[in-house]
Amino acid sequence: MKLPSPADVRAEFDRRFAVDPESATNYLYQLGADCGYIKQEAIARNVCWESPSPWGSLEITINCSKPEKDPRAIAAAVQEGTPLEESTGEPQCDLCWENEMWPGSPGHPAKPGLRIAAIMLGGERWGLQFSPYGYFPEHCIALAAQHRPMVIDGAAIGRLLDFVDLFPFYFIGSNADLPIVGGSILSHDHFQGGRHQFPLMSAPLRQRIKMRPFLTVEAGIVEWPASTLRLESPDRHALQQAAEHILETWHNFSFPQAGVVAFDEGAHHNTLNPIVTKDARTGVYTLHLVLRNNRTDAAHPWGIFHPTANLHHIKKENIGLIEIMGRAILPGRLAKELPAVQETLLDAAASGAAPEELQAQLEANTLTTAHAPWATAIYQRRFTPGFRRAEILSLPKAPTTTGPSAEPTILLPWMQDEVGTVFAQVLACTGVFKNDDAGRAGWAAFLAAIDAQPIPGKDAQ
Ligand SMILES: [Zn+2]
Repeated sequence: MKLPSPADVRAEFDRRFAVDPESATNYLYQLGADCGYIKQEAIARNVCWESPSPWGSLEITINCSKPEKDPRAIAAAVQEGTPLEESTGEPQCDLCWENEMWPGSPGHPAKPGLRIAAIMLGGERWGLQFSPYGYFPEHCIALAAQHRPMVIDGAAIGRLLDFVDLFPFYFIGSNADLPIVGGSILSHDHFQGGRHQFPLMSAPLRQRIKMRPFLTVEAGIVEWPASTLRLESPDRHALQQAAEHILETWHNFSFPQAGVVAFDEGAHHNTLNPIVTKDARTGVYTLHLVLRNNRTDAAHPWGIFHPTANLHHIKKENIGLIEIMGRAILPGRLAKELPAVQETLLDAAASGAAPEELQAQLEANTLTTAHAPWATAIYQRRFTPGFRRAEILSLPKAPTTTGPSAEPTILLPWMQDEVGTVFAQVLACTGVFKNDDAGRAGWAAFLAAIDAQPIPGKDAQ
């Protein structure tokens, strides 16, 4: 199909936006889907399920949609005669506006279907585009027009609030602006949004709090493995002030008993993930602030608040914005490895193998070796003699988690739950204030630092 020029797309987006913002985003999304820029078939191959956890149901996805490998093939797909009217030079990164209409180069493949709408956030011109490999419905990216590093500050909070004023049917949030706890692109200021209710957003409050300087803002600590505050108010100005106050206090806050140190050796370590939604009906804004710290030490070279080494067989990468909200994005290799682990476990159970035999078998197979200690522990817990037969007989025969793929990944419910348990442990690793004595003392100290008091009584939201 012949795509309209970037200028025409922006004009059409603006025309629709003036009448109905949702029709504008629908237009941009449909354009991307129709021309193949949004890889709907690849996205459908992703494996997804929900798993229970102490913090409610978590969402698990195995990301099987991989970007194309050959930049030349992508460059060749640029339509003949497409004018390079808006390309002003080689993009400096994957998020630069210059990617639109870029003809392709070894470092930066062309993205012929990319179209970027222009929006205003915080008085600046920003772009809005959809992700070609969305992790959830209408996964969009707002990007600064200028190639500049991500910074979580008061201005960023203001831009997020602007975004939900423009598009109240989307959430919007930001990755953290420090390595280890941040996303994969720190060099270009951007947000991620879309049409999805994440588990974090449905979690109840553990403790309501009253912030003395901001009495019009309802606030509380969320019952969530990552250390999270929720603020709610129809008063946008008060909400932003409260958020800035929390952010500034957190930047300088240390609580060594819990491992939280704001500064060492000239580097600062505290930042947060801000996430904003707006109820279009009531006008109430909800702001989640997830406290993050990226310090490492000799015992935790990956990060003190990073998944521990025993969990790396499932998840090793940074825990970014999407995952911190309870949606796991697990590496594609697991689509082959986990069914192999499951099959080995079932075979061992059927033959009554000893745990040591099973472990040796798992270690001998390149697909299962990384999972051997974990799978052996599952075997000992779930497939004990006497329990074994009933367990196997109760297994459903049909695949339970398949996308419309040629090679469905068949994971049985108990296996899904085991993976979900690992993800819950991954999330717990990110919590700066754990659910233990040091963590509770840390929360108390931080509440005092932001001049907030617990409101007595357990909250049921
Ligand atoms: Zn850039």
